[in-house]
Amino acid sequence: MERIKTYNFRLYPTKKQEELLNHHLWLSKELWNFLLQKEKDHYNETSKFIEKTELQKLTKKSGLFSQTAQAVCHRLYNAIMKMVRERKQGKNTGFPRFKNFFRMKSLYYPQAGFKLEEKLEVSPFGEIKIKKHREINGTIKTLTLKRTPSGKWFAMFVVYVQKKIPQQNNGPKTGLDFGLMNFATLSNGFTIPNPKPLIKHEQKLIFFQRRFSKKNKKSRNRNKAKIKLANVHEKIKNMRLDFLHKTSNALISNYSFIAIEKLATREMIIKGHGKGINDAGWSMFAFILCSKAEEAGCKVELVNSMNTTKECSRCKTIVPKSLYIRTHNCPKCGLIMDRDQNAALVILKRQPLPKGSGATCKASGSLGANAGPGGSNALEDGRTKIPSLNKEPGNHRDFADAKCGTFSR
Ligand SMILES: [Zn+2]
Repeated sequence: MERIKTYNFRLYPTKKQEELLNHHLWLSKELWNFLLQKEKDHYNETSKFIEKTELQKLTKKSGLFSQTAQAVCHRLYNAIMKMVRERKQGKNTGFPRFKNFFRMKSLYYPQAGFKLEEKLEVSPFGEIKIKKHREINGTIKTLTLKRTPSGKWFAMFVVYVQKKIPQQNNGPKTGLDFGLMNFATLSNGFTIPNPKPLIKHEQKLIFFQRRFSKKNKKSRNRNKAKIKLANVHEKIKNMRLDFLHKTSNALISNYSFIAIEKLATREMIIKGHGKGINDAGWSMFAFILCSKAEEAGCKVELVNSMNTTKECSRCKTIVPKSLYIRTHNCPKCGLIMDRDQNAALVILKRQPLPKGSGATCKASGSLGANAGPGGSNALEDGRTKIPSLNKEPGNHRDFADAKCGTFSR
């Protein structure tokens, strides 16, 4: 059995290489827009979409490395097919968007065109200096060259690794309750403090944001300010990821079983619980925890999050309490305990949600090249889609009738 792993390394291209890399991003943005316009025109004329093979022929004179150009075409075609599927399900999905230069962030090499040794040799950029901060164990399958908003370049490798037989972890079982004051509380009373990277950098962020917005549009100084702002955002993101990785590593190596709540983070943010939830990164944490647990011989289960803070962990009585009451005090059995520890105990004792209800942790395969470390789809059901505005009837064609090319999946 094989599993997918991604490795992310910083690249240090020369000035010339950087110019060429940016030029190729610009070319792929041009190609995307060109193909999208073709698809739109063809659909307006014939109510059909251009077949994939025909679309691929249009990429030949793009000036990009052939496989990268094919990948742009593939991505666009998949986006259109997704739109068709969703339209058939009755959703009001529109065409993919035209992209500007800043929306095109990566160049994808699905099979060939690169070689990794001391440096990274990529066609047509030549040898690029790379910082390999760890060894790759496994077979490299794909490469994505990625530019961050601050202008840094990274090489992301998707690698197939042999799945190890999980070693038995003899640690105890624990329940885990997420919170805002503490990042999480375990059922044994142990707490993990919240590093709050966003809140710590908030003043800095406000300062650079204000500076950026005051600059004249299209001025060089605006670009400089933009990079400084992007750097702060990256710093926050890196701090958060670092904390999540270290915490999940510590948990899976110490415990054999971890129960966590299936959270509806998006709903909570909409209801006004605010940026603290985004800052804590719970869904990202759940995703990282699930993807690492199996190899460490640890089992992670998701449980229903309903009334976990109100229920008594000893007698199951519902004891309502507002946010500022920090102690659980049960009138029936007399249990007095820290509110979060009580919730963690309730979570530990709850039955795991059945597999297939969207509650399973999809560890392998979900860290694809484009998902990257920024993807946070761990708790798919926890995310509720905000309904899009209904268009007036007659504004769009009936996509169910549209004939389209073969589905690639
Ligand atoms: Zn009780």
